[in-house]
Amino acid sequence: MSVRASRVVPIAALAVALTVGYLVGSTVDTRLGAQDVSPTEARERDYYVPNSEDLAPDEMRVIACGTGMPTTRAAQAAACFLVELGNGDKFLFDIGSGSAERISSLQIPYDYLDKVFIGHLHGDHFGALGELFIGGGLMGRSVPLRVWGPDGAVPEMGTKSAVDAMVEMYAWDLAGRAGLVDLRGFQVEVNEFDYRGVNQVVYEDNGVTIRAWPAIHSIDGPVSYSLEWNDLKFVFSSDTYPNKWFIEYGKDADIAIHECFVAVPAIVNKMGFDPESALLVGTQVHTAPEAFGRVMSEIQPRMAVAYHFFKDFDTTGDVYERISKTYNGPLSLAEDFMVWNITTDTIRVRMAVVEERTWSPPRVAPPGPPDMADRDAFSEKYGWEVGYSEFITDGVWNVDDVLRPIYEEASRVLGREFPYPERSK
Ligand SMILES: [Zn+2]
Ligand SMILES: [Zn+2]
Repeated sequence: MSVRASRVVPIAALAVALTVGYLVGSTVDTRLGAQDVSPTEARERDYYVPNSEDLAPDEMRVIACGTGMPTTRAAQAAACFLVELGNGDKFLFDIGSGSAERISSLQIPYDYLDKVFIGHLHGDHFGALGELFIGGGLMGRSVPLRVWGPDGAVPEMGTKSAVDAMVEMYAWDLAGRAGLVDLRGFQVEVNEFDYRGVNQVVYEDNGVTIRAWPAIHSIDGPVSYSLEWNDLKFVFSSDTYPNKWFIEYGKDADIAIHECFVAVPAIVNKMGFDPESALLVGTQVHTAPEAFGRVMSEIQPRMAVAYHFFKDFDTTGDVYERISKTYNGPLSLAEDFMVWNITTDTIRVRMAVVEERTWSPPRVAPPGPPDMADRDAFSEKYGWEVGYSEFITDGVWNVDDVLRPIYEEASRVLGREFPYPERSK
């Protein structure tokens, strides 16, 4: 990405130098701040590098970990926003497809990424829950993953049903890990609440209050959220058509993140929809850019954030122009890894520069050893002794002679005995 130095030659000084040089045609050095710009000394940079800045005790940092659509692309993951607070608390709002990779680039210990608030159950808003569940467990989470989300008009339409089904979907995955790795992080706790609750408190702890209210999107069930802490208010629509609750409870936001869908012509030209569908999806199911602007003009946040469109060179201008018809306040057109640092005085917007070739971040708790009792629990649950049948073990092609030295090497290097798991035959 391009980088802008935040410390530059003061404009006034530069103007004087240039003017003098121009008028007098003298020997004044008009090279741009040559005396201030060293080729060897570090300069302050105007981007965010994860884990390089402490949050002030009264500061909130929001990082976009997904700003895209259900139509997947490498350049943008689907909806996901991380909120980090100066008190150490962290919260994920939506966990759309592709966002788990963005989250891993932030290298935050997974024990701190244990709270996920889902606005609705479209794949682009919770499609990466499985990766956070399984991958987060493998990358050091030692506590259950906690999920908050709305119920539905019938139980099958609710968050609990979806998450329970996800865990069942991973039956083979989880049973196969039991007895091999520390399973403490491979638990999910679901906190389902009434989707019709109006500005109801769904979370309250450590000075943080999270509220939910109904959203209008697709069918009954979706909600929007606010997070309030230390005189700062974060608001997140998830997906919604403009509605009276967002107008009322989204007010006084320091940062208001609201969906702003792809403009209708692009839905036809780039997504291949027929015009009738494009008009319905782009204006009636979602919030069109013009309607996004109208909402923001009404609630007047300190920073309005538009997301849920593919932000390309040939779409951004159209989205911006359409928003501008109805809103001219502070605005961020979100893309992945956009970062907002918020205090009661300032809002600083930057991009993060992140590592892609990451491994596990530091652990909060050391990993426990594998426990065969975990496997026994799965055997009991499924009425089948979890493991290999004789049919499969009969297929083993013996390479003990090359594997045994790996155990001997570990025993030698780590100074304790690791017995080689001799096969019975
Ligand atoms: Zn949706
Ligand atoms: Zn969506």
